[in-house]
Amino acid sequence: MSGSDVEVAIIGSGFAGLAMAIRLALRGERRFRILEKAAEIGGTWRDNTYPGCACDIPSPLYSLSFEPNRDWTRLYPTQPEIWSYMRAAVDRHGLRAQTWLNAEVAEAAFDEAAGLWRIRTADGRALTARFLVSGMGGLSRPAVPDLPGLDRFRGKIFHSAAWDHGYDLRDKRVAVIGTGASAVQFVPEIAPKVSRLHLFQRTPNWIIPKADRSFGPFERWLVRNVAAYRKALRGWIYAYHELRFMGFSGNERLRRFVEGQALRHLARQVPDPELRAQLTPDYALGCKRVLISNEFYPALTRPNVHLETAGVRGIEEDAVVTADGRRLEVDAIILATGFRAAEVPAPVRILGRGGVDLSDAWADGISAYLGLLVKDYPNLFLLIGPNTGLGHNSIIFMIEAQVDYILRCLDLMRARGASLVEVTARAQDGFNREIQEKLRRTVWLSGCRSWYLDSRGRNVTLWPDFTARFWARTRRVREADLRFAAVPAE
Ligand code: NAP
Repeated sequence: MSGSDVEVAIIGSGFAGLAMAIRLALRGERRFRILEKAAEIGGTWRDNTYPGCACDIPSPLYSLSFEPNRDWTRLYPTQPEIWSYMRAAVDRHGLRAQTWLNAEVAEAAFDEAAGLWRIRTADGRALTARFLVSGMGGLSRPAVPDLPGLDRFRGKIFHSAAWDHGYDLRDKRVAVIGTGASAVQFVPEIAPKVSRLHLFQRTPNWIIPKADRSFGPFERWLVRNVAAYRKALRGWIYAYHELRFMGFSGNERLRRFVEGQALRHLARQVPDPELRAQLTPDYALGCKRVLISNEFYPALTRPNVHLETAGVRGIEEDAVVTADGRRLEVDAIILATGFRAAEVPAPVRILGRGGVDLSDAWADGISAYLGLLVKDYPNLFLLIGPNTGLGHNSIIFMIEAQVDYILRCLDLMRARGASLVEVTARAQDGFNREIQEKLRRTVWLSGCRSWYLDSRGRNVTLWPDFTARFWARTRRVREADLRFAAVPAE
């Protein structure tokens, strides 16, 4: 197969894009290019640099299985550690030469006659590729809340995913909007520095203790030198996380057990009954992402921190006005309001058969087959596409299963002499019916508002099963679900 600049174009250099690129490189296939919109690789782990940023999956599991990190220093890895691991992997596999930085994809259009993807970047570069692999991830587009008057604010304002380290928060009056996974991590870090912190909570989260620890010299030696130890630790942590799915899919006893653990954690750390009541969730644990922290609740008991639960009525030049009419003067507003994970449009203009924009194809809600393939979009693979996110285990496991599937697909095409692959409408629709049916029995549709749901209340982000089942589904390419063809001109 030739006629294209590269065989595979990969959008994004987060864990998804890197997993794809490294696996290709390990197979000796070098005809690929990574297109990265920013000036450095790393995706969400490059963008999120807020104080305290860390991963809530333990380090031995939060790495690529074929690229083990021997340098982890603690159980729950911090952002600088993860990002440096990613950069080291890129250098080790010589991927920089195959990466275009500052190359935001403006459009990728499938050329039906030539059977290839024509890609244009915002800065005017062009590339053709036989296959297009999207590693854009679900957490790459910060969500900015629609608060009346936000644009009138004259103080400092930034999103947690674009932290302004040049702004000194010391002795400032700060409003933080949102109490999700990001806020829970940075609020304890900034609380001792600022003069006053108004933390706007819309919905309390379930928070469980974080069993974090740094690895001692002997354990670091083991991690560095004994592959069997690394693998055993990884396997054990994987299995433990996998079991959590039972609590999210109908095992009431397990769910209530963890809820009890979280409530005891809250009671231990927050003596004031009024504050405790404000922080107590009234929905099933797991419906929104379960958070882990030992520092968040204690930060809220500080005299300079005020939990605001009345909601935001609007923003003025120098203040946030609460729904109950209080005017809180602040110097800075930090938006910890999360990401647009479930929303159309797709982050990039992707035109498939007939020039149809993926955003239009998804107007009734995003969906794909195995989160990977979309009907009428030949040779397009989406990593961490619809319904392949997780609420209970490491996303890297899902990425690896998807990359394996793509490589199997490419091998199969070679064996069959095919140059085009696409999923049948029947397979995609059947897959999505099955997913939505399974979701009905999970805690994620038990009636809370979460970023897992789209505007119609459909869960389009999570895989509603054990990840081992996803692995099993992607072990083999079901040929009946796909259509293979040769490019007419060939
Ligand atoms: P998030 O969990 O979606 O939290 C957003 C917060 O902002 C929520 O408290 C939400 O309230 C609030 N909010 C949103 N719009 C609002 C509005 N208009 N007015 C008032 N409040 C509003 O976002 P995140 O904390 O950035 O985390 C997103 C995801 O990133 C996580 O779930 C996780 O997957 C990933 N993440 C992981 C880690 C980690 O590994 N530890 C750390 C950070 C992020 P409601 O709850 O009421 O909607």
